[in-house]
Amino acid sequence: MFARVVVDVPVIDTDRPFDYRIPESLAPFVLVGSRVSVPFGPRKLQGFVVGLADTSEVQKTRDILDVLDVEPPLTEEMVWLAGRISERYMCTHYTALQSMVPAVLRSSYDKQIFLTAEGEAFVSVLPDEQAFYEYIRARQPILWNKIMKEFPFATTWLDEGLKKNRIRVEQIVGDRVTKKTVTILSPAVSVEELEAARGKLSKTAVRQKEVLSHFIHFHGPISQPELLSLLGVSNQAVKSLVDKGLLIKEEVEGYRDPFSGRTFTPVPKHPFTIQQQAVIDGIAEGMNPPVYYPCLLHGVTGSGKTEVYLEIMERTIAQGREAILLVPEISLTPQMVNRFKGRFGSQVAVMHSRLSQGERYDEWRKIRRGEVKVAIGARSAIFAPFQNLGLIILDEEHEGSYKQEETPRYHARTVAQYRGMHHHAVVILGSATPSMESYHEAQKGRIRFFEMGERVGNRPLPKVTVVDMREELRDGNRTMFSKPLIDSINNRLEKNEQIVMFLNRRGFSTFVMCRSCGYVVQCPHCDISLTYHRSNRTLRCHYCGYTEREPQVCPECGSEHIRFFGTGTQKVEEELARYFPGIRVIRMDVDTTGRKGAHEKLLQAFREGKGDVLLGTQMIAKGLDFPNVTLVGVLAADSLLNLPDFRAAERTFQLVTQVGGRAGRHEKKGEVILQTYNTEHYSIQHASKHDYESFFVEEIKQRYEKNYPPYYRLVLFTFAHENVPLLVKISERFAGKLREALPPGAYLLGPVASPIARIKDRYRFQCMIKYKNDPHVLPAIHQVVRAFEEERKRTGIMLTVDVDPQMMM
Ligand code: ADP
Ligand code: ZN
Ligand code: ZN
Repeated sequence: MFARVVVDVPVIDTDRPFDYRIPESLAPFVLVGSRVSVPFGPRKLQGFVVGLADTSEVQKTRDILDVLDVEPPLTEEMVWLAGRISERYMCTHYTALQSMVPAVLRSSYDKQIFLTAEGEAFVSVLPDEQAFYEYIRARQPILWNKIMKEFPFATTWLDEGLKKNRIRVEQIVGDRVTKKTVTILSPAVSVEELEAARGKLSKTAVRQKEVLSHFIHFHGPISQPELLSLLGVSNQAVKSLVDKGLLIKEEVEGYRDPFSGRTFTPVPKHPFTIQQQAVIDGIAEGMNPPVYYPCLLHGVTGSGKTEVYLEIMERTIAQGREAILLVPEISLTPQMVNRFKGRFGSQVAVMHSRLSQGERYDEWRKIRRGEVKVAIGARSAIFAPFQNLGLIILDEEHEGSYKQEETPRYHARTVAQYRGMHHHAVVILGSATPSMESYHEAQKGRIRFFEMGERVGNRPLPKVTVVDMREELRDGNRTMFSKPLIDSINNRLEKNEQIVMFLNRRGFSTFVMCRSCGYVVQCPHCDISLTYHRSNRTLRCHYCGYTEREPQVCPECGSEHIRFFGTGTQKVEEELARYFPGIRVIRMDVDTTGRKGAHEKLLQAFREGKGDVLLGTQMIAKGLDFPNVTLVGVLAADSLLNLPDFRAAERTFQLVTQVGGRAGRHEKKGEVILQTYNTEHYSIQHASKHDYESFFVEEIKQRYEKNYPPYYRLVLFTFAHENVPLLVKISERFAGKLREALPPGAYLLGPVASPIARIKDRYRFQCMIKYKNDPHVLPAIHQVVRAFEEERKRTGIMLTVDVDPQMMM
């Protein structure tokens, strides 16, 4: 037998499977999806098996050296999926495969063998096999490779031992064994005998009596830590009962449960609203019989989308199928996770970004072994290795974080589409502010469309006041808080209600704006704001390369108050303290949330009323639900609007809508104050009226006129090198080759300097292809990239290719 192996040489020119012979001794364990170790030139490398064959066309094949896992970490579907991802996003096959397994499996080479209870008790009639078991019994855990060396027939016995559940295998990760055991207690005798024993205990043995009572009521196993904390008794009480033969204590393999010790209260089910029911009935059509059923659920914040997800998920599980729920950033959505945990309990695996690698591996294993039905996580949870997937949900589907910003640069929405087709699954894209791409798809009828326009209980959407910061300046207010915002803050402080204050992500101070009239300097050709380059004091368009000198006065109104723009959260905190003495501010940004659990602690403190203001960046815009928040302040809506990115207007609309959704979700009415220098801008205008439709109409027109997605697709190439002349020369040569290779209808812009012109002392240039959905474009690009490989290596130029880029930097 031969295996086709993709090896760990993630460069383009060796990006194909190589044939290896499977030695007899490994044959039962080498399957599609297995990780193997193989000789490659003089080296020993890791690889993934992507196919098996009886013959090989290669004259001299070498042998596979070892198989790294007993159960292949990847399913056949995943292997297929990796192929599609590497084609679509132009990464190597190995990189795509690698990104689908948990991090701990990316380095480990060794595995250990243990005997199960059955293995311990097993007696073989074959003396050799008996010796084999005794050998393990005496030395376990024992390394797989060692036993293979010691026993010539180890393969057969191991294979059979695994199939008959006598032998267990675990990965070793570094020095740490990745699995963990828990102590389980169970009653050793009948309920009647337990009762009799309880009667015989002395009066002082109160604790032991309690434990016995527990087992009289619940005649089943429970983990020791759980029992101890439930009854508040000590180890000693348990030990006495075990010694008396009333209880059995055993160590079983357990998973580290990151949520252990927390209780999840099931949220009571409500009767569905009419609009919820309509959506559920609609989606259910795609489930019986199962078909690929992609749909967009456009529902305003608070319309009850999550309740719809829960219901569809319940029905999916009832069909014996599995579900994936993706959320933009899982540490920001504890409330959401709790609702799913509350409904589906231990059937849920949570792929939390703040779990340790071992914990993540455990969650992943539960999925791989089919022990759970639901996986919840951020982007990479789209690779949850379920085999009978019925449902994929992308909540907040418009979020940029669904695109991975390193290779493989996949978009979870696209991967969801591939998996959905493969499994005939329902794919729900949910959002209050759908991406232009998805809404466009829905309008064209390529995916189904469902809408929920009303909040549950007809709670009104919060009133949004747009404050013109130019007027504030004219009236002599030079602070970052407008008069209406100051009044509203004071009002909430008096009433003891809470405030969420939002500032855009730190550190963007690269656009130039006039503080008197709000004018932002833009590229005359591209309709995006120009980027300020401090080094030579110029403004530049990073799409087309247009450059102009830094203005001294505003070209629009002549004011001298023109400067580049930006404010940090820390500064806001200081200012708040200055203008509102005694105000309690909880600041959430990358500085205050670095440590594990810090997020949740800060949010909990705010929920408990330990702060008047929750101040933060993007991270506070999502999913949070606080009954006492009645004011949301957005300090500078413009900072997003003026990013040099064609999605700037879309992002601003999404953000304002989302932040606004944080207010007034409960009994108390909410209000949003939006400070801006661009009161007339359509995304600010429509967001303040909660009018997605009108925003879409205006924005889609822009996209059409400027050849942007969803009408055109983009591929962004970034070159990086220390040496600028070389960089210019090579990137121009590359661009020339691309131009020649592109089919008509596709065109290339650039190369020009990237908006972030230097990172880590490497200068950056970029060029961009725009094309209609033409299947010849990606293969053409692929060929040019491949042909360029030689020169790239020789010159040391770094090249990244980003298909469907989300970040234009
Ligand atoms: P979304 O996900 O669209 O923001 P949620 O599903 O979180 O909305 O619902 C908003 C609030 O309304 C939640 O507190 C939820 O418990 C409640 N809710 C949802 N559906 C119903 C219903 N049918 N009846 C009563 N309350 C509901
Ligand atoms: Zn001006
Ligand atoms: Zn331009």
